[in-house]
Amino acid sequence: MSTTTERAVADARTDADADADAPALEVRDLRITYPPRGGRGPAHAVDGADLRVGQGEIVALIGESGCGKSTLARALVGLVKPTGGEVRYRGGRLGHSSAALKEHRRHVQLVLQDPGGALNPRQTVYDAVAEGPRLHGMTGDLNARVYKALSQAGLRPPEDFMRRYPHEMSGGQQQRVVIAGALALGPSVVVADEPVASLDASVRGEILKLLLDLRDELGLSALVVSHDLGLAWNIADRVAVMYLGRIVEVGTVEEVLLHPRHPYTKALLSVLPDSGRDRRPTLLTGEPPDPTAIPDGCRFHPRCPLFAGLDEDGRRAAKCATDDLPVLSADPSLGAQVACHLAGESRDEDEDDRYEDTGAAR
Ligand code: ADP
Ligand code: MG
Repeated sequence: MSTTTERAVADARTDADADADAPALEVRDLRITYPPRGGRGPAHAVDGADLRVGQGEIVALIGESGCGKSTLARALVGLVKPTGGEVRYRGGRLGHSSAALKEHRRHVQLVLQDPGGALNPRQTVYDAVAEGPRLHGMTGDLNARVYKALSQAGLRPPEDFMRRYPHEMSGGQQQRVVIAGALALGPSVVVADEPVASLDASVRGEILKLLLDLRDELGLSALVVSHDLGLAWNIADRVAVMYLGRIVEVGTVEEVLLHPRHPYTKALLSVLPDSGRDRRPTLLTGEPPDPTAIPDGCRFHPRCPLFAGLDEDGRRAAKCATDDLPVLSADPSLGAQVACHLAGESRDEDEDDRYEDTGAAR
């Protein structure tokens, strides 16, 4: 078969694959490398990541600043072209043509961290929310579409908000306008990149509750990106923990937060305010992670408290320093997964009751 024919067959298959039962959104072995800049080599921002968001599911993607979360989020909505691997929406592979990307963005919408930056100060709420539908030629009964989106985003009654400008609203209301702008296209998935990071603590809960309500009322799926593992309790069904471009632990919220197995997840949990009264925070040592120089072996080993405690000449230490770990499968039916050579050995006896209070408060 010629390459052209192969491509045509592959494209046809992509369409046929768009399947009602398939995951809402999925990436497989995704890789995104930024070109060298400022005398530094290429940055492997996403370096082999599998992730899946089921229909009607909310998944939290958690990791420190610089680990590749935003790059992955942008690839999911088709704003960054993968260097390798693929993005799938309802089973269909995302193509690279501008028509395919435009269609994709109607179904999969990105909500950014800073509503102040996302909104044009000279644009009314009406125009901000109508912008997406106009771009997509969805202008039939635009008023009704904007009205409905504002109402769904909790800006009620909508007519009180339509003619306002961003500076006439609170940060929480501005973020609701951004969310209404996403909802106006009738998406089935929202990718929210640090949606509450720039908001006052008092309104964070409201915005997270809104995402939960949208899931319950509209069946909306969501990937919620955050540097704060604690946020997962309030919103997510499943959690994926990312370190230096790769998912290192994934599972249900209960599995990952109550029974963390990766030393990185444990370190993130140990610095949460309610992480247990008697527990000292695990401060990570070593250089901050650098995607231009990914360490050999387990990419976390230079900062790993478990590795630091091993006899350096030992067989186990050698494995951590030299053997890379496989990309974790995103298949939730496989249960919780962890990418750590030592995970099976690292369970603390008192771990089970460690987050009881947090769990009960959920
Ligand atoms: P996060 O959202 O987790 O903070 P990002 O996806 O923004 O992480 O960035 C991941 C890594 O890629 C960082 O080290 C960042 O410096 C680098 N990076 C991001 N954008 C670019 C770019 N346009 N060119 C080069 N490197 C980039
Ligand atoms: Mg980011």
